[in-house]
Amino acid sequence: MVKNDNIVIDVSGVTKTYKKFTAVDDISFKVCKGDIFAFLGPNGAGKSTTVKMLTTLTRPDLGYIRVNGHDTQKHKDKVRKSFGIVFQDQTLDTELTVYENMQFHAALYNIKGKKVHKSILNLLEYVDLADRKDSYVKTLSGGMKRRLEIARSMMHRPGILFLDEPTLGLDTQTRHFLWEYLKDINMKEKITIFLTTHYLDEAEEIANKIAIIDKGRIIAFGTSTQIKKKTKSKTLEEAYLKLLGKNMSKNEKSGKDMMRSVNRNVGGG
Ligand code: ADP
Repeated sequence: MVKNDNIVIDVSGVTKTYKKFTAVDDISFKVCKGDIFAFLGPNGAGKSTTVKMLTTLTRPDLGYIRVNGHDTQKHKDKVRKSFGIVFQDQTLDTELTVYENMQFHAALYNIKGKKVHKSILNLLEYVDLADRKDSYVKTLSGGMKRRLEIARSMMHRPGILFLDEPTLGLDTQTRHFLWEYLKDINMKEKITIFLTTHYLDEAEEIANKIAIIDKGRIIAFGTSTQIKKKTKSKTLEEAYLKLLGKNMSKNEKSGKDMMRSVNRNVGGG
């Protein structure tokens, strides 16, 4: 049993439809304080739509969402102040310095006074960017920019950090370091992390709870061990492929078989 005050994201019976297309179809799940929660699924499964609803950017047609105890439709401002977000696309101002980007974010959140300077330096220290504080963002590597975005998203001390594909486009070593930073932030700052990623091995490594969504519906939920056990799989990737395969319609399966036979006939894999 999960205690109520431990639940920081509560999604109940949520559906989102675009015209006649149901992008998210009656999903329910809970994320607890301190979780590193990985939200996985193929392209078009409904992940971004869910993140948009969780972060008040779009509203559900049915159901409710509470983030940090606030209803995302009734108390948008309170919800917005309670989380930080790192988007898939970079949102830094590359013509400003590292420090100025942090300052700008502080101003957006109305954080004023002497504490701003100290807090910026602490956060930059945290993500190993203190010595680059006066560098223009355009001179930073991809990994550094991501770290700066993470530091910036923590400026207003959020309880939850949303990260949409935080390691996309980064090399293996930089991805590894980024996950280490996130684990550290989660542990030391007690920040709940909600992330989407296509790197299943990394999700398995970092997340203590996982949901898999496909065609707008949640098809698996639990720890990676639970999901692997249920699907009799050795890795999360194997479990994921089995679950998605099971979730395919007959038409999709026959389409896949057809493609296989075409590939075979033309000598493909
Ligand atoms: P994911 O993030 O898992 O790739 P999305 O949530 O972006 O998936 O999209 C889920 C489905 O909803 C996709 O089929 C997508 O084309 C559709 N969709 C998303 N946003 C819109 C929109 N604004 N209008 C119409 N369809 C949309």
